[in-house]
Amino acid sequence: MIKIGILNLQGAVSEHYDMTKKAAEKINAEITVEAVRYAEDIKTCDGIIISGGESTVIGKLIARREIDKTIKDKNIPVLGTCAGMVLLAKKTDFNQPLLGLMDITVKRNAYGRQKDSFEAPIKILNHEYPGVFIRAPAIKSYDKTKNDIKVLSEFDGEIIAIQQKDNIALSFHPELTENTLIHEYFIKEIMKKI
Ligand code: GLN
Repeated sequence: MIKIGILNLQGAVSEHYDMTKKAAEKINAEITVEAVRYAEDIKTCDGIIISGGESTVIGKLIARREIDKTIKDKNIPVLGTCAGMVLLAKKTDFNQPLLGLMDITVKRNAYGRQKDSFEAPIKILNHEYPGVFIRAPAIKSYDKTKNDIKVLSEFDGEIIAIQQKDNIALSFHPELTENTLIHEYFIKEIMKKI
């Protein structure tokens, strides 16, 4: 049985938990979902979700608890949303501890003050999808020499969703919608691997 861990260090966790369960039911996938806090719990996960929150805080805890090492050693796929996307990047415009699993450069709070938080319809995986952006980051660039990188969505001239191997980074918050599309996709990607 597949186990998906929702990293529970800081930020919104329960919404991802509920969405992952709902998505699994929808596609009839047998999975367990668990909130995880330590490298020890993460070791046994087949996928990890890193939620929105404060990426500097989450990044410090990830490093201190050697969660980064476990994810890298075990090659565990990560879905990172908002702060989670920041953490997946190799580089950001701020000096902070990162997981650095994806060859992308991210700008934090990319949408400025007046658009700090907003909702807008976006297109992803051939579907229209409700994008919920909260002090959202955007992908400024990615390593175009890597052919394992796939842009999944752009909005307003910015890349807002990208995948490299089994890692997926999103500027927005799929867990704050009613739409399970992205969680379903992440589960299916993990199932392909197992
Ligand atoms: N701007 C935040 C950060 O970089 C992310 C905001 C969010 O996760 N909603 O940590």
